[in-house]
Amino acid sequence: MTADIIDGKAVAAAVRERVAAAIREEGLTPGLATVLVGDDPASAVYVRMKREDCAQVGIESFHHEPGADVSAEDLATLLAELNADERVHGVLLQLPLPGHLDDAALTALIDPAKDVDGLTPVNAGLLMHGREGMVPCTPAGVMQLLGHAGVALSGASAVVVGRSQLVGKPLAALLLAADATVTHCHSRTGELRAECLRADVLVAAAGRRGLITADMVKPGAVVVDVGTNRTDEGLTGDVDFDAVREVAAAITPVPGGVGPMTRAMLLENTLRAAQRLR
Ligand code: NAP
Repeated sequence: MTADIIDGKAVAAAVRERVAAAIREEGLTPGLATVLVGDDPASAVYVRMKREDCAQVGIESFHHEPGADVSAEDLATLLAELNADERVHGVLLQLPLPGHLDDAALTALIDPAKDVDGLTPVNAGLLMHGREGMVPCTPAGVMQLLGHAGVALSGASAVVVGRSQLVGKPLAALLLAADATVTHCHSRTGELRAECLRADVLVAAAGRRGLITADMVKPGAVVVDVGTNRTDEGLTGDVDFDAVREVAAAITPVPGGVGPMTRAMLLENTLRAAQRLR
């Protein structure tokens, strides 16, 4: 068996088109504020790409770079200003922050209605309660990819490797809400291979290159690779793509799988925030 490749770029393009059309048709001008602290080159690239994506679909962006040595108090003041600014419907605080700042404490200051990354405790809580809030972009994108690929989740065995607040935990909650039977693995999981072998849907979100090998995948499974690991040969996922492709029924590539969906879902979340706040 050679797995079908789930093309994240194509699905993301469709999401972007949908967002752009809604903005045109509803006469909205959604606004996204991006806050970049410090001089991490990867963060700077991510924020630049997010702003370019916004411009493409008609979302206005408001960019702030308060400086690497900004105090927690000054950053809190900036976030309060953005919360109060009626032109701003989404506030994105790019993580990680420099070491003297507390990522979680500062993220929690974002108005949950403008929390387009879905990382505030309020939105995490709403997700756990099965109520409508703002869902983090990567897990939301994975669910759209699975839907697009026609993967039946109800009653399926789903295994999520990784339990971060950003990816693993919200994704496990979404899969559970879709009636999958969810097994959640992490670095202390005893028999990772045995757990993974049970999966009809296997999601790797550990940030460990080559963690998922072909002998860990049930024949016919759907494999979603969230991992992004920078190597000398470029970007690679957590899954041994070439070997797993011979076992799985469908697989997401890296790059070109979950990454484009993460970017697209930020646009969708910003549109949704603008629709709710108007
Ligand atoms: P993270 O906060 O570092 O969490 C990694 C998780 O993987 C942790 O829960 C950790 O377990 C688990 N883990 C690490 N090594 C493991 C192992 N050997 N076996 C089993 N579990 C293991 O990372 P993250 O923010 O969730 O991101 C995960 C990966 O996805 C990274 O490569 C990141 O770059 C990528 N990512 C991609 C996108 C995208 O758009 N494509 C978006 C976000 C993240 P413990 O909890 O026990 O430590």
